[in-house]
Amino acid sequence: MTVSQNTLCVQEHQCLQAYNTLAVPVNTRWFADVYTDEHIAQALAFVTEKRCPLLVLGGGSNVVLVDDFVGLTIHLNTRGISIEKETDTEVFLSVAAGENWHDTVMYCVDQGWYGIENLALIPGSVGAAPIQNIGAYGVELTQCFAYLEAIDIHTGRVQRFDRDACEFDYRDSVFKREAKDQYIITRVVLVLSKQAQWHIDYPVLQAYLETVNPEELSSAVIAQAVIDIRRSKLPHPNDIPNAGSFFKNPIVSAEVYNDIQQRYPNVVGYVHSRQPLSYKLAAGWLLDNAGWKGTELDGFAMHKEQALVLTNPQRLSGVALLAFVGHVKADIRQKYALELEVEPRIYTR
Ligand code: FAD
Ligand code: NAP
Repeated sequence: MTVSQNTLCVQEHQCLQAYNTLAVPVNTRWFADVYTDEHIAQALAFVTEKRCPLLVLGGGSNVVLVDDFVGLTIHLNTRGISIEKETDTEVFLSVAAGENWHDTVMYCVDQGWYGIENLALIPGSVGAAPIQNIGAYGVELTQCFAYLEAIDIHTGRVQRFDRDACEFDYRDSVFKREAKDQYIITRVVLVLSKQAQWHIDYPVLQAYLETVNPEELSSAVIAQAVIDIRRSKLPHPNDIPNAGSFFKNPIVSAEVYNDIQQRYPNVVGYVHSRQPLSYKLAAGWLLDNAGWKGTELDGFAMHKEQALVLTNPQRLSGVALLAFVGHVKADIRQKYALELEVEPRIYTR
């Protein structure tokens, strides 16, 4: 039987272990790889007909899948990169949501463009990048973001969100709040600079680049530095399943910060870049200081090079994972009177 490339191919009872970087073995009632906007329209018709929920997955690197999913899971594979507009100084690059984020960064770097290089080697898809306003090494997506297009899941209408409409915040956007589960992001337009300009004051990056001749600095050199630094401390999900930083850095008042600093003079914290009266505590330091770095319990561990990364080497269930998370959170609560929040989206029934 030949299946038209224009027809969405829906499979039943698919295991999602290969589709989430924590390698949690859950099943989905229906599953489809999506390659075109037409497939997305068909997926929306499918969930309407079945009256079932929809789960959108890109790289599955920021999700904790706990229970079997009773609806349709779509895996976004849409492709396409093109220049939408170009001036003497800037390039507006339109990228399909299913494109790989890191490949897109390296494409820009290869063109000699600037603005995105600090975000090299972040796993996942382009379409998921605005969801949590991905950030690393002193740069956030919002700094190279022009606008996105998304399909309203209920009406099928295409809607444009500019930077303001996305309400970007620290690892946050409207798509984690009011617009949660309302849209499928189909295209992101990035704005890159053709002029050499960089952000290298993030301490570990600055230290790495100290030996580089300033005249040789370029987006390619910075991207390679970020790649080297990341490889030295972050486990690759294919080797050790993980979802990157598992907990958010707690944002606390100056009062709470001072109190913790009195008890723990070495605590790592920074003035919050968007709320100058608040402090961002390094959750990795809190965990490390509490003895969790490299500690294994019930088959899970906080990574030996970076305590903020929860690993699932035995590819255990999401239920078991949440039990482990409960132990970690209780210990941090007891030691610092702080409530850790999980960064990846948790999917329970
Ligand atoms: P998924 O996990 O597939 O999806 C995440 C959420 O977004 C889900 O709720 C999903 O339904 C939704 N979603 C995905 N695509 C769409 C779409 N097109 N439309 C609507 N909703 C959608 N994050 C950082 O910010 N900075 C880092 O430096 C960083 N480093 C990481 C390192 C490692 C080793 C790992 C494993 C993760 C890291 N992350 C980091 C987290 C993660 O890679 C990012 O959040 C990434 O953007 C997730 O992309 P994804 O395609 O895998 O999203
Ligand atoms: P790190 O360099 O060990 O730093 C620890 C924490 O201190 C980070 O959370 C970082 O905040 C903060 N920090 C360091 N220098 C800072 C400065 N000058 N100003 C403000 N805050 C500062 O962190 P890491 O774990 O190796 O990660 C390196 C970078 O990659 C970080 O930006 C991190 O966010 C990102 N990353 C994210 C994930 C994820 O899944 N979300 C996974 C891996 C790496 P910020 O986190 O706000 O930068």
